[in-house]
Amino acid sequence: MGQIIDGKMVAEHLRKGIAEEVNKLKRETGLVPGLAAVLVGDNPASQIYVRNKRKACEEVSIYSEEYKLPEETAESYLLTLIEKLNHDEKIHGILVQLPLPKQINEARILRTVSPLKDIDGFHPENVGLLVEGNPRFIPCTPHGVIKLLDYYGIEIQGKEAVVVGRSNIVGKPVSLLLLHRHATVTICHSRTKSLGEVTRRADILVAAIGRARLITEDMVKEGAVVIDVGINRLPDGKLAGDVDFENVCNKASFITPVPGGVGPMTIAMLLWNTFSSAKNSKGF
Ligand code: NDP
Repeated sequence: MGQIIDGKMVAEHLRKGIAEEVNKLKRETGLVPGLAAVLVGDNPASQIYVRNKRKACEEVSIYSEEYKLPEETAESYLLTLIEKLNHDEKIHGILVQLPLPKQINEARILRTVSPLKDIDGFHPENVGLLVEGNPRFIPCTPHGVIKLLDYYGIEIQGKEAVVVGRSNIVGKPVSLLLLHRHATVTICHSRTKSLGEVTRRADILVAAIGRARLITEDMVKEGAVVIDVGINRLPDGKLAGDVDFENVCNKASFITPVPGGVGPMTIAMLLWNTFSSAKNSKGF
């Protein structure tokens, strides 16, 4: 059985470090990093994410504000709120929880968040900087994936990395980060033919699909490192990843569980981005 990558433990370790940095910044400069989370509608999963983010901020002494808007909120109202937050000196990171209701143009909202406060790294300017290899904010989940590999001393350079999923939030940025670390990267998606043939080539396999247990044992090379980003709700209410963990863990050299793998890393990296945004805002 492969080694289980304990994202909960690594995230806790990172959060401790962030708390120390935040307190040092406060002590030395008086600056308190601030995060504003905007939630439109009542998607239960989004409500849980936002609540967890608020708790995580409190733990590391980051100031946080929460804006819960009704499902029928007009786009113009949200744009005005974001503009206000863009100019609010207490706020260094703005997070707009996705998905947004249908009447709101998601791309327009993401472009309105100041690129200097875009801690999710979704603004086109920040996407461009990431593509260049000179990121301002690294998107949180992909950043968490790399941090996990680094924490466990897993070499990336020269490795065959296969990423299943090409979303702007996970698949594309994680592929870029692996590329920048000199992996040979293949990106798969729903039109990929013979998915198993491609995934079996992977030394490092990242699944970011959103289909419970799609990656089965026969699709994984002996000794591969398997990173499961997926979070899927099963009919019985339990959570499952995109990887058939029970069987794949016998073949993998390292594997992330769901929950407790990549998930906890996302919030830790969000806190890190808020802290570094605050520091950068004053040129510290
Ligand atoms: P998207 O739905 O935006 O993207 C899914 C990707 O998977 C698409 O590129 C799609 O291909 C591809 N795909 C779908 N079905 C197949 C298939 N049968 N074979 C191969 N590829 C397929 O999802 P996200 O990237 O936003 O999220 C992926 C998963 O990660 C979800 O479970 C989500 O909940 C989870 N997640 C977890 C986070 C965390 O903190 N751990 C944070 C963000 C997401 P195509 O482009 O062709 O449609």
